[in-house]
Amino acid sequence: MNDRKAVPQKANGMKIHFIGGAHEVGGSCSVVEVGARRLLVDCGQRMGGGDIDRLPDLARVQELGPIDAILVTHAHADHIGALPLIHLAYPQAPLYTTEATLALMRIMLADSLRIMQSRWLQEAEIPLYPEHAVLSMLARVKTVPLGQVLPLCQGEVQMTFLLSGHVLGACSLTLDTAEGRVLFTGDYSVDAQRTVDPLVVPKIRPHVVITEATYGNRLHANRKAEESRLAEAVAAVVTAGGKVLIPAFALGRAQEVLLILIHEQRVGRIPRFPIFVDGMVRNICQTYSLFPEFLGQRLRKQVQQEGNPFFYVGSPARAVETKNRESVPLGEACCIVASSGMLTGGPSQFYAAELASNPINAIFITGYQDEESPGAKVLAMADQVEPTMRLMDRWVTMRCKIARYNLSAHADAVQITSLIATLGPRRCYLVHGDTGARQALAQMMPPGLSVLLPSNGEMAEFQTS
Ligand SMILES: [Zn+2]
Ligand SMILES: [Zn+2]
Repeated sequence: MNDRKAVPQKANGMKIHFIGGAHEVGGSCSVVEVGARRLLVDCGQRMGGGDIDRLPDLARVQELGPIDAILVTHAHADHIGALPLIHLAYPQAPLYTTEATLALMRIMLADSLRIMQSRWLQEAEIPLYPEHAVLSMLARVKTVPLGQVLPLCQGEVQMTFLLSGHVLGACSLTLDTAEGRVLFTGDYSVDAQRTVDPLVVPKIRPHVVITEATYGNRLHANRKAEESRLAEAVAAVVTAGGKVLIPAFALGRAQEVLLILIHEQRVGRIPRFPIFVDGMVRNICQTYSLFPEFLGQRLRKQVQQEGNPFFYVGSPARAVETKNRESVPLGEACCIVASSGMLTGGPSQFYAAELASNPINAIFITGYQDEESPGAKVLAMADQVEPTMRLMDRWVTMRCKIARYNLSAHADAVQITSLIATLGPRRCYLVHGDTGARQALAQMMPPGLSVLLPSNGEMAEFQTS
């Protein structure tokens, strides 16, 4: 698969193949082609609920031919969930990412192997990939220091990772080639979060930018105000004797929610109450404290002085062991932070089914919800008279409080527009967003800039001359 023809002197422009995650949030996968060189950027799964095709069109990648290197922006499953499959097809291709992302990939992929194994045992669903694919793939990963220019393809391509905010280890990447300079923003945040600083804007001007557009049709609420609103609402329910479930993505959102609630308790703005943490959140929290150089300035200092900022002696956060899970809904008033973030499975779905029928309890949604996901259905229930929905294979009447808080780890419409105007590329591709978000964003972009909205399966060509 890797026998290579002679590299032509003139490459005839750059091609970008949008394999997955172009007109959708999920299954991110692109291939950049310069001459006979091909670099694959991210390879994730679609994460929403329902009967969807989980994988991007990997056959399309194979049709293109050999892959020289695989570049990974961050460890969310919509960017790494199909990497073990692509590794089986291209076992010799090295993978490059940051040290923190590699550590997170180990946890995320071990968790998905565990989930696939239990689906096999319970529902005879064949796993998407075997364990040896994950192990041999992880052994091929090379970590790249932040900001360091890395020569790839025998020096024909120079790659640089810069932190992009979003979650621990997340980066944008710049590819410098004879045919132009392209920037993949990856997922990024412009607001400072409790865990990570905002994205680092590259100093050099790219010809082409491929930006995420998740919230291309939204403006975020003031972050600090939203954090206080959430903490106060959780405290009000718990003080009245109820339990609050916050379904949260195990990587990123869960750490943000925990730090908000722990901090507000520490400074006495809300009373002390236990915060139960369930799912793979705990392992990921541990990883956050192992990589202080990737953390935001304030948290970095705290970690260097006090160690793990989530689970320390006297912390209100308590990890739930699986064998004790059923006792939590029966116990004291509390907040529960559990994965998965869209209630598609995992402990959050169990807690939602247990808590939802009692009006004293609450479910607070803080993150992106795929249209088809149970989380989106819960939000839609908020205005209904006698709302019922299926959770954990049974009908549940939703009598609890339901509310949404915007703690996004993605840039909003104005922040994206402003970044692109600052970078000043010739062409900009909007990806990682639905049609509404991308069309709204395209309207806001600087005049004279060529803005394109590719669909999955499309190929774009670019020439500097
Ligand atoms: Zn992400
Ligand atoms: Zn993403």
